[in-house]
Amino acid sequence: MNGLAIYIHIPFCRRRCAYCDFASTAGLEALIPAYVDALAREIAAQDRATVPTIYLGGGTPSLLTPAQVQAILDACRAAFDVDPAAEITMEANPGTVDAAYLPALRAAGVNRLSLGVQSFADGELALLGRIHTAAQAVAAYDNARAAGFANVSLDLVYGLPGQTLADWSRSLDRAVALCPDHLSLYALEVHGDTPLGRRIAAGDLPAPDDDLAADMYELAEDRLAVAGFMHYELSNWATGNDAACRHNLTYWRNEPYRGLGAAAHSWIDGERRWNVVDPGDYIARLREGRPPVAGREAIDRAGEMAETTFMGLRLLQEGISLARFRARFGQNLLAVYREQVRELEALGLVAVDAERVRLTRPGRLLGNEVFARFVAG
Ligand code: SF4
Repeated sequence: MNGLAIYIHIPFCRRRCAYCDFASTAGLEALIPAYVDALAREIAAQDRATVPTIYLGGGTPSLLTPAQVQAILDACRAAFDVDPAAEITMEANPGTVDAAYLPALRAAGVNRLSLGVQSFADGELALLGRIHTAAQAVAAYDNARAAGFANVSLDLVYGLPGQTLADWSRSLDRAVALCPDHLSLYALEVHGDTPLGRRIAAGDLPAPDDDLAADMYELAEDRLAVAGFMHYELSNWATGNDAACRHNLTYWRNEPYRGLGAAAHSWIDGERRWNVVDPGDYIARLREGRPPVAGREAIDRAGEMAETTFMGLRLLQEGISLARFRARFGQNLLAVYREQVRELEALGLVAVDAERVRLTRPGRLLGNEVFARFVAG
């Protein structure tokens, strides 16, 4: 993909979920109008670029009014050459959208909705501290379709404390029955400094079982293949190439993106850069005309090659294209990583053909071990 992908971070949530360690805050919704103004200033200060995708993530972007979303997208259209056919995604929490909200969001220009469903079992949603029920998630999905969203993705999480394979199977079936265009399935990561992590540490809840989580992943692979989904990235399935998330493909292909807003990261011109995390600090800096950048790091060529390789391996069909690697770096991937690829091939974790290197099915379950070889290399 050519051009610059734009990520916009909205760090506000109504309430913190029990498992969350993302850059988000609860109880600061009063800051949203000032935050939207600050975002518009940061956007206006960017160099002009062609923009094929915009992604509003969080936090909970659906705490913004449609008019605020419109203001952000208008600022993007003024500062950048936004492709008229751009993919414009917004994450939405099913507990924050109603039948009136979604048509207004669609009219504001959002054309892809990513719904944070997480589970179709109310007990699991309560355990996770989510602010919505399964019925609200189904209503949000139906309202999105009624509002004209032709591209809807659902997020689910598996490997919850006490969750059985049968529980997971039921949630998956409910998701498939809705006929979404895209599914993102994540294994629960337990962080010690969250309410869920503390309950597990105290012995109040069982720790997640990695073997069971692997069984859940394989169940999803099989079930979604039968349902006609293409497993295109380790954690992502789409009904076809057109339904793959174009914005996230930028990350997996290690192509340039600009992150705007508190805590947002960018990767452009050989440099990684990140903004201040605190929304109040972010707003104050933009008001005072100071850049919100908190840090930057140059990535050398070897680092860029390694990142391009291990991020690209996440793409299960596309893998790392040998031709694309050569065009980008002027070198043969199979020569640069001769030892790593030979060893991983011998272990049955990657497969090499004339065009590309890809993870095998066993390799998908050991992805982090595979990626670590390239980081070390
Ligand atoms: S809605 Fe998302 S970002 Fe907000 S607290 Fe829950 S998991 Fe974290």
